[in-house]
Amino acid sequence: MQEIQIHNSTFESYLTENEIDSSVQKIAVAINSEYQDRHVLFIAVLNGSFMFCSDLLKKITVSCAVSFVKMQSYEGQETTGKVSELIGLSEDLNGVDVVIVEDIVDTGNTLEKLYALLNDKSVNSIKTATLLYKPEAYKKNLPIDFVGIEIPNEFVLGYGLDYDGLGRNLSKIYKLKKH
Ligand code: 5GP
Repeated sequence: MQEIQIHNSTFESYLTENEIDSSVQKIAVAINSEYQDRHVLFIAVLNGSFMFCSDLLKKITVSCAVSFVKMQSYEGQETTGKVSELIGLSEDLNGVDVVIVEDIVDTGNTLEKLYALLNDKSVNSIKTATLLYKPEAYKKNLPIDFVGIEIPNEFVLGYGLDYDGLGRNLSKIYKLKKH
């Protein structure tokens, strides 16, 4: 499928399954090397990161556990600027080494909110892994430690990422077509 239509928007093919898989592999190799002989708690940010998290964890060889938070900042194709926590973290995180798993880092608002939540819980360390990163949109100073692919400031969809709840099931990544 080269193009798909969702509501009144057209999306064109952007990243192939092979390109996505290589990026996931690259991130896994870096994490496996960084956390050798340590234990990691992966915290995946729902909903968008479910597919990336699943593929990433299959390639992780160090001791690990996974937990999920649900955050929301986008409505349709726009960021609202405000991040709400819809499902939070209940476990004891004191002294834990955390890797945040994001599908995409855009403004960084979600990341900033999550960092604040984790710092309140006295974690030992926080690093971030994201499949996609929009450097032109990023407004924070927090480090993004493991980046799959840097992309321009355009709206993308597929491989977990949605447009109004649709398109998460697509195995490739598409971007909004400009008219
Ligand atoms: P941030 O808080 O960094 O601005 O945005 C993070 C969240 O916004 C991501 O986890 C994702 O859910 C959503 N988001 C940001 N950019 C895009 C995009 O291009 N496409 C889609 N579908 N969601 C996006």
